[in-house]
Amino acid sequence: MANKKIIVIGSGIGGLFTAIKLAQQGYKVQIIEARNKAGGFASDITFNNFSFDSSFYILFDKPGLEWAMQQIHVNIHDITNFKLVDKVYHVLHENETEIAFHKNIEDTATILEQKFKGSASTYKSFLSHVTKIHQTLQPLSYKAHPNFMDMLFSNVLLHIPFLTGSLGNVLERSHLPQAVQKALGVWALISGQPLNNSVSTLSLIPSLMHHSGAYYPMGGIASLTNALTTIAEKLEIEITYNTKVKSICTKNKVATGITTKAGETVAADGIISNYSGIGTYSELVDDFSESEKQKLNQQPLQSVGLCVYLAVKGINPNYYLRFKVNGKKCIAFVQPGIIDPSLEKEGWLPAKLFTHLDNEVALNQEEQIKMMDELVKDRWWQTHISEYKILHSQTTFNWGTEYNLYRNSMNPIMSPEFMLKKHIPYKSTYIQNLYHAGSSTALGQGISLCAISGIHAANSLAKFLI
Ligand SMILES: Cc1cc2nc3c(=O)[nH]c(=O)nc-3n(C[C@H](O)[C@H](O)[C@H](O)COP(=O)(O)OP(=O)(O)OC[C@H]3O[C@@H](n4cnc5c(N)ncnc54)[C@H](O)[C@@H]3O)c2cc1C
Repeated sequence: MANKKIIVIGSGIGGLFTAIKLAQQGYKVQIIEARNKAGGFASDITFNNFSFDSSFYILFDKPGLEWAMQQIHVNIHDITNFKLVDKVYHVLHENETEIAFHKNIEDTATILEQKFKGSASTYKSFLSHVTKIHQTLQPLSYKAHPNFMDMLFSNVLLHIPFLTGSLGNVLERSHLPQAVQKALGVWALISGQPLNNSVSTLSLIPSLMHHSGAYYPMGGIASLTNALTTIAEKLEIEITYNTKVKSICTKNKVATGITTKAGETVAADGIISNYSGIGTYSELVDDFSESEKQKLNQQPLQSVGLCVYLAVKGINPNYYLRFKVNGKKCIAFVQPGIIDPSLEKEGWLPAKLFTHLDNEVALNQEEQIKMMDELVKDRWWQTHISEYKILHSQTTFNWGTEYNLYRNSMNPIMSPEFMLKKHIPYKSTYIQNLYHAGSSTALGQGISLCAISGIHAANSLAKFLI
């Protein structure tokens, strides 16, 4: 194994996990990263001395991340301090109805009951329904390729209607009031996804939130990435920064190495791409049929959204995450200072405003900045805020350039169709020796799913190379 060389393209969460897992198995691993630091979306960004999470808000699936950590023999508590969030999120609807979700089931049920008589017990039965499904499905996510027998023994077959349906279907069947359904579906709405075109697995979030909890990493998500980078360096993984892979070289449909933008060629026995799955074929693989490219390119991509990084004086009460929902529109206001008051500097605290941008809405850079200026003027998020400064407005073009995104977007929209038929497998179905890790392969964009996918990609490649 020691003489087998693996190249990992990109050092996002998926790239780091896959590289560490392979290095621990004795492979010689090189990560090639276009940026000057590791982490991809899971990194930090600084404006006016304030450090922000570039993207991250909250970790719902701590058990999934812990599983991935165990696979690389690391105890999550030794490297990152994840703080449990008690008052998780608040939603203001267009008709002024306010709903909030707390870690504690009884508190949440009481809030719902105060707004909608009878909804406490309906919420509890919905929760018990999705918790049963979650308990069945979670172990399967730890298998790279669950086979029929795995599914049979885990009773997953009973949940086929759930898996093939949409988030909208599951919420409708809950008989909860519309406002509660929408508040539960806020994770789809903030990504610009209608509930009826979103994966049903998003309905499992309440089960995670109430049972395992929702977490915020103290020091930001970069604390996790930095710890993983240190582990990678100790394992003598070579991390080459500021280097963009231009192409994946192939011979007779077998990947043989990569060429960098600067023209260097590096041979490899295996390649794992942490770049966009579609982008890997559309832009990197040197010999890929135009017709296949076109098919992949037809998949609708998820917009990365617009983000305003702010410094604020004063703080809104209670909720780390607040959403305002109006029809299909959704805005999030994120206040990490509520969880970590040490972020304060001379009375100022960092905060973020975020909204989705439909990909079909092709606004240019100036129009997107104008849209964010309008967003900031909304009084809703400023209830207890006496002053604010805009530190930076992040357009989809900024995201694309700074994070090396394919078509300035995230991976394909996580629709039921994508989940069932079109997702990118860990092992390439087109090119031998080529594998994928990260949100391209994960059935969701969450950090934990990207970490799990990194483990599966590494195990799939190792199995092939034996
Ligand atoms: C606004 C926003 C909010 C989010 N909030 C949450 C949240 O609250 N909770 C949560 O769990 N998840 C959240 N996510 C999702 C999560 O952050 C991402 O899905 C996850 O970090 C992606 O990891 P990845 O492994 O796919 O790699 P990525 O982060 O996509 O990293 C890929 C890396 O590859 C590098 N690269 C690309 N092309 C090349 C090339 N040609 N050569 C060399 N290097 C290259 C890039 O520079 C990058 O470093 C959020 C995402 C966004 C955008």
